[in-house]
Amino acid sequence: MVESILVAGGAGYVGSHACKALDLAGYQPVTLDNLATGHADAVKWGPFVQADIRDAETVRRTVREHNITAVMHFAASSLVGESMVRPELYYENNVIATLRFLEALTAEGIRQIVFSSTAAVYGAAEAELIPETAPLVPTNTYGETKRAIEGALSWMAPVHGFSWAALRYFNAAGADEAAEIGERHDPETHLIPNLVRATLGTGPGLKVFGTDYPTPDGSCVRDYIHVADLADAHLAALAWLRAGPSGQGRPFNLGTGKGLSVLEVVKAGERVLGKTPPHELAGRRAGDPPRLVADPSAAQTAFNWRATRSDAETLIRTAAAFERTRM
Ligand code: UDP
Repeated sequence: MVESILVAGGAGYVGSHACKALDLAGYQPVTLDNLATGHADAVKWGPFVQADIRDAETVRRTVREHNITAVMHFAASSLVGESMVRPELYYENNVIATLRFLEALTAEGIRQIVFSSTAAVYGAAEAELIPETAPLVPTNTYGETKRAIEGALSWMAPVHGFSWAALRYFNAAGADEAAEIGERHDPETHLIPNLVRATLGTGPGLKVFGTDYPTPDGSCVRDYIHVADLADAHLAALAWLRAGPSGQGRPFNLGTGKGLSVLEVVKAGERVLGKTPPHELAGRRAGDPPRLVADPSAAQTAFNWRATRSDAETLIRTAAAFERTRM
């Protein structure tokens, strides 16, 4: 019998790619999503339950109906800028809603939880490669709410007997190789989709936010990871949890360990798209740390996982292929 995995936020960017990866691996993803920011037509694999994670009755019924023992939890508000203007919304949607969800899940005896976390828990980290043991000093409400749930998981797990992994994504980018699903944020604030749209003429010219940072070319350096590599890591994390003891868990960085500057991404855009992305050099964007690059060795070792599609060329090529399907 095909095993079902509950995917909260399965209609969103990373969640929909996880559903495809689950399907490919022989699981049935069951998407639970309130469509606040997700898209119904991104749910292409497995059943769709349109409901809020705070709806305990529906959550519990769904778990029972599908004999679910493991959950991937992507459902959250995830715009850093918005989180600074409406912090209470981020506490409500990311902390309070997730606590209600965890209560319902633990009442049904869920065994494994893979939680979507973020490198924003670190804030402006000092390390060249950031390890999971780096201090957690988030500089925005979004990161703070993810840190809060990592804490809740660590205290709840031994009491309720589930195991957990919090996956701290660095910069998710790219789209499904078959262009069936991709990134559709509104508003779009991320570098790679903005670069693709500027170059294909579906969005405004790109602004390079800051060229006076203490980095080799003055623009910010980030660790970009392909969304399909992220999706695979979720499956590997689930296998790792299932091989280990219950009541425990830990965070893992998901990144490549290699940094790319904004200007390097613009140059790669030119190579991949055959045209210089229309861009202008602009001032710094508030709150951007100069450099954020993962030490991904813990996930690589524990999960026997590597990012294999996270080079600039594949990130931009797949993001552009998805954008073209929407033109
Ligand atoms: N960035 C940029 N122009 C844009 C969007 C982003 O120069 O239109 C820069 C941004 O300042 C940061 C990097 O690209 O240095 C990555 O930003 P993004 O919003 O993609 O991810 P973040 O690192 O903020 O999570």
